[in-house]
Amino acid sequence: MIAMMRNQPEGYDFIVIGGGATGIGIALEAVTSGYKTLLVEKSDFTKSTSSKSTKLVHGGVRYLAQGDIALVREACVERGRLLKNAPHLVKNQSFIIPTKGLFDELMYTVGLTFYDLLAGKYSLGRSLYISKRKALKRIPTLNPKKLSAGVVYHDGQFDDSRLAVNVLQTAAEKGAHVINYMMVNGLLKDNSGKINGVHLMDMENGEKFTVKGKAVINATGVFADEIMQMDKPEMKKIIRPSQGVHIVLDKEFLPGNDAIMIPKTDDGRVLFAVPWHNRVVVGTTDTPLEIPSLEPVALEEEINFILNTAGRYLTKAPQRKDVLSIFAGLRPLAAPKGDSKKTKEISRSHKIYISDSDLFTMIGGKWTTFRRMAEDMLKKVEATKSWKRIPSKTRTLKIHGYMKKVDLADPLYFYGSDREKLLKISETEPGLEGLISEKLNLHKVQVIWAVRNEMARTVEDVLSRRARCLLLDARESVRIAPEVAQLMARELNQDKAWEEVQVRNFAAVAENYMLN
Ligand SMILES: Cc1cc2nc3c(=O)[nH]c(=O)nc-3n(C[C@H](O)[C@H](O)[C@H](O)COP(=O)(O)OP(=O)(O)OC[C@H]3O[C@@H](n4cnc5c(N)ncnc54)[C@H](O)[C@@H]3O)c2cc1C
Repeated sequence: MIAMMRNQPEGYDFIVIGGGATGIGIALEAVTSGYKTLLVEKSDFTKSTSSKSTKLVHGGVRYLAQGDIALVREACVERGRLLKNAPHLVKNQSFIIPTKGLFDELMYTVGLTFYDLLAGKYSLGRSLYISKRKALKRIPTLNPKKLSAGVVYHDGQFDDSRLAVNVLQTAAEKGAHVINYMMVNGLLKDNSGKINGVHLMDMENGEKFTVKGKAVINATGVFADEIMQMDKPEMKKIIRPSQGVHIVLDKEFLPGNDAIMIPKTDDGRVLFAVPWHNRVVVGTTDTPLEIPSLEPVALEEEINFILNTAGRYLTKAPQRKDVLSIFAGLRPLAAPKGDSKKTKEISRSHKIYISDSDLFTMIGGKWTTFRRMAEDMLKKVEATKSWKRIPSKTRTLKIHGYMKKVDLADPLYFYGSDREKLLKISETEPGLEGLISEKLNLHKVQVIWAVRNEMARTVEDVLSRRARCLLLDARESVRIAPEVAQLMARELNQDKAWEEVQVRNFAAVAENYMLN
């Protein structure tokens, strides 16, 4: 891919900086609109926020409470589209809100019925009131003292980094060039001061390149200020990162298929407990931060908040020793004009900034609306550059791996149509049969597949984002890292020293995913 990128004397129509939800959506939108497209990511795809979400494809019930009806409608429509376009990765998830008293019951039943109406034909199922007895039957681990009844509603649930990989594969199949471990460290400008390319550095060997592009898109999430300052060094920062933390617990804490949504915890925050890959993800928090990082670390107060709150709503309170993994992500919110420190109140809606030199920056939004955000970006670029408007082709575009029906009980279901091809390798190539970890259900062939077909370059790429082991059980992931490194080294023609560095690097990252 790097050789192909270097062999583009004419350059690209679109250069997208950043391989998170925002960037991959824009790359797919651009290439399917017929533009020559390059996406570069300085680390691995979705290394930052886009692999650390709550895993919901949702309309955003809480934004409804804030009266942001347009945002909720937009997200409900995109939720429905994504469910149709990537049914191997997005599924219908039922949530139960434990209610306390008649007022709660009425408010949530009416509010969620409105939520269904807003979704219209994209609704995933009708919301309904259920008795306390029924709620406890569906979720036997709910603390009976914390509810008088329940309200059931539906949203979507997905695997964030797997979706990103499949979207990138779709874009690449349409002709886009997508490269990880390739950092933009400068912007190129023409005589009139307009941006017409980027300076790049290969993060694996330090090699430097210059690539031309007619439209350069800054989709770097919480790092957007850095690119904006490459364009205009005196530019004031506009990002306010807000940290969200999740813990992962064994399925025994939330058996069955329903998720729990607590709209108002004691301090007014929302808390989700969602079944995911045979575990339970519980979170999230909302803590304003000053400085962004690729691997943010959970704060003690966030850990305590999640454990304490979950402990009040569940019959068995989770303890620190029960936490299989803990991960933190940063919301790239656009800072408000005033001085509010409350990030919950900053709009989640996406924003596009266009600089005098035509740097197109997209900030905010959410995974659920990544396709719509991309459509909006294409419209903006075409209008600004006076290019012909090309209607979007992604609304019904099937994402790589598409399979109308998958068996969710199959641990490899998320490979969709790739599943058979992957299993074929283990049948035909000696030494690749069997599991690396029974606990995590990680097959040896998944490692090989990730290297050959999904651009995995490091042990962390495989264990964190191609398979989700690090997020599902950090200690077990560290245990199996040497075997993963060995398999990768064979595939990538690397030596023992490479393996050792990989294992060490992975252990250092995994340290932050474990609680003592
Ligand atoms: C805790 C939490 C939970 C969330 N849960 C949900 C949810 O359940 N559902 C939902 O819809 N949304 C959710 N969101 C929102 C959603 O995850 C984010 O809006 C989205 O992931 C942001 O994607 P992004 O591409 O803008 O940023 P990022 O994911 O941060 O991607 C930006 C990328 O740019 C790269 N980059 C930076 N600088 C450079 C450079 N110089 N050169 C090349 N590359 C560069 C970075 O390495 C990074 O990979 C959640 C967010 C958080 C924080």
